[in-house]
Amino acid sequence: MKLTKVLLAGILVFALAACSGKDKEIKTDVLVIGGGGAGLVSAITVAEAGKKVILVEKMSALGGNTIISATGITASDTKYHEDAGISFTKEDHFKRTMETGKNLANPALVQILVNKSSEAIDWLTELGLKLKVRSEAEPFWLVPVEGHYGSQLIGVLINEANQYDKLDVRTKTKATELVIKDGKVIGATVEDEKGSYVIYAKSVILATGGLNNNPEMIAFYNEKYKNINTEMTTPGATGDGIVMALAANADLVDMQYFQVRPLSINGDWYHERILTTEDVSGILVNFKGERFVNETLAPKALAAEILKTSEHSAYAIFDNRVLNTPDGKKFFEKGKGFQANTIEELAVLINIDAVTLLKTINDYNQGIDPFGRTVLGKIIEAPYQAVQTLPSNHYTMGGLKVNADAQVIDKNNQPIPGLFAAGEVMGGLYGDGRVAGNNTLDDVVFGKIAGLSAVK
Ligand SMILES: Cc1cc2nc3c(=O)[nH]c(=O)nc-3n(C[C@H](O)[C@H](O)[C@H](O)COP(=O)(O)OP(=O)(O)OC[C@H]3O[C@@H](n4cnc5c(N)ncnc54)[C@H](O)[C@@H]3O)c2cc1C
Repeated sequence: MKLTKVLLAGILVFALAACSGKDKEIKTDVLVIGGGGAGLVSAITVAEAGKKVILVEKMSALGGNTIISATGITASDTKYHEDAGISFTKEDHFKRTMETGKNLANPALVQILVNKSSEAIDWLTELGLKLKVRSEAEPFWLVPVEGHYGSQLIGVLINEANQYDKLDVRTKTKATELVIKDGKVIGATVEDEKGSYVIYAKSVILATGGLNNNPEMIAFYNEKYKNINTEMTTPGATGDGIVMALAANADLVDMQYFQVRPLSINGDWYHERILTTEDVSGILVNFKGERFVNETLAPKALAAEILKTSEHSAYAIFDNRVLNTPDGKKFFEKGKGFQANTIEELAVLINIDAVTLLKTINDYNQGIDPFGRTVLGKIIEAPYQAVQTLPSNHYTMGGLKVNADAQVIDKNNQPIPGLFAAGEVMGGLYGDGRVAGNNTLDDVVFGKIAGLSAVK
């Protein structure tokens, strides 16, 4: 009887261990953590080199923030520029990137990004992505011939990844910590629905994206953005790669810099000129119906002021003349705006004190402005509109310090053996300002570099 009990207990322990996956130990050549653009490109590159690669993605689907990339990719001296007879040279690209980042980016990394942009575009074209130069006025943008950019980009990458038997994609599998032996990264502990297990690898590539969905971590690195909202991100962007790499003594660069959008709501952001265009401008009010800021401040400063209000949010108030601009129309429609024929009715709709709101607007219309705004329009025409805004992070500029081979650098300025990074988790390409479109270019260029370095 006793023996049967012991046997049963043994079987139970064995079954639980198997269920939790704790007894599993998997070996591969390269482990890629994160299944957005950078992770997919890294994994494809490893598989192309004939090596075994496992890509783990904690969400149930691949894509990350890459799949919501709205506009296109920035690249220079591409065949598309040649075909269109529109010039955007490598020199233009380098200059634009450095100047936008207030010359704080790492010029050596930026030069690599620029030099490799044209071949990155050729590769994406081969995979089936159909692009064109946006316009002579915006020659830096390559945009899809039709349709949504991010979903098409992820579509061609997934399609390519599916061609390789040696590429094993595991969704709903979260990396929780790196396994480090004698200073070398030799794998990571991951957990899935059944439990946790270790994947051992000769190299690990971190491609976990930014911090957009981790307001506490954003505030830790820049207190100005305390209480930031998360309107503009997919859920996986929680800074896990940074946390994991810090445990391996990784160094970070530019962590205080974020691209924050003051006018964001419902998964998108809207141009600040809604508030600043002369004569047709709007104002921001807090939840008491008072103005609290010069609405023409630079976007990041404006976002920080909105975040200081008790609700970390504000209402943009404007009239039909803003609504009739393309930016105003998009903001109102996508932001699910409110409209009324009188200010008092509008106040009721947004649950703000009507007397205060009326006084705020009357003062503004008469040019009374304690905030130093130089461009004062008027809000005079019925109907009136209100749209709530929830300032959110659009892009994490800083990240892991890497060298030209995408090796993660430690606090002693030495590469951490076995550890590489690509995409938004890495720092150095932006400084204090992001050229939109360089980001998915970063996914491709540094995804490829990380993949190739990882198999050396
Ligand atoms: C609204 C919006 C519009 C944009 N538009 C453009 C644009 O037009 N052009 C452009 O170039 N860029 C654009 N960007 C920026 C661009 O989308 C990203 O910067 C870039 O694609 C990031 O790629 P990534 O692979 O590094 O990260 P992501 O695509 O975010 O992928 C990271 C992945 O890692 C996963 N992950 C995180 N932690 C773990 C873990 N512990 N274990 C397993 N998996 C994990 C996440 O779930 C996620 O799927 C836009 C961003 C936003 C928010």
